[in-house]
Amino acid sequence: MKSYIDSLLELIYPEKNTCFICEDYDEKISDKYICQDCERNLKKIQPPVCRKCSKPIDYNSSIDLCPECCDTKRYFIMSRSPYSYEGLIKKAIYSYKYYNKTYFYKLFGSLLIDYMKDINYTSFDCIVSVPLHSSKLRERGYNQSELIAKYLASRLSIPYVDAIKRTKKTLRQSGQSKEQRRKNLRGAFEIKHPAEKVINSSVLLVDDIYTTGSTADECSRALVNYGAAGVYVITIAR
Ligand SMILES: [Zn+2]
Ligand SMILES: [Zn+2]
Repeated sequence: MKSYIDSLLELIYPEKNTCFICEDYDEKISDKYICQDCERNLKKIQPPVCRKCSKPIDYNSSIDLCPECCDTKRYFIMSRSPYSYEGLIKKAIYSYKYYNKTYFYKLFGSLLIDYMKDINYTSFDCIVSVPLHSSKLRERGYNQSELIAKYLASRLSIPYVDAIKRTKKTLRQSGQSKEQRRKNLRGAFEIKHPAEKVINSSVLLVDDIYTTGSTADECSRALVNYGAAGVYVITIAR
C-alpha cells in the first residue's frame, strides 16, 4: 500500500519523464528524475579524496587524510558525498529545503543509490538520518534528510530506524566558524529509547550536506556512545 505521503506527493510531482531540475521533457529520463544534460552538469567530487571525509586532497599529499581530519577526532568511520556543493546541485538542495520541493528526495535518493553502488557503499545494518529540532520540523513540515534516508532504506532493503532526537535548537549554521559550530552542537543530539537496532550495528547516517562535519560527528558520537559498532555517513554534497 502506498504511504499517505507518497500519494500526496504524487499530486505535486512533475509529470513522468520530466527532469526535476530543468523541467524539460525527455523520454530517456524514465525513473531517474533528471535529464542527461543536467546530470552531466552536476559537479562530481574527483579523487584523490580524504579517506575520512571525502574532501579532495592534493595529488602530492603523502597521507590520505585532509588537514582537518588529521587534527580532529572523528566519531564516524567515513563520510562519502558524490557531489561538490556548488552550481546546480546547490540550487536543487536549496529548492528542496526552502521551496517545498519535497519530491526532490526521489532525485537525490536515486543519484545516491547509483553512487553508493558504484563505490560499494551499501552494506549496513540500519539507516538513520540527522534529525531536525521539533520546532524546525513544524516550520518546514518535513525532514529533508529523513525522506532521503527512507528512500535509500527501501531501495537497499535495509531497515530505517528513527534513532536520533535533536534536543537543542541551534542557530542556522552557515556563516559560523568551525569552532562555533562544534560548540553549538555539543550535546545537541540524543538517541531515542529504545533503539536496539543500533547496538552493535554498522549504521549509515544520512544528511543533505557535509559542511564542517560537526553535525555528522555529533550524531555519530551519540550513536557510538549508545553502542553502534560503526557509523558511516552519506550526504548528497560537500
Ligand atoms: Zn534537466
Ligand atoms: Zn578529511
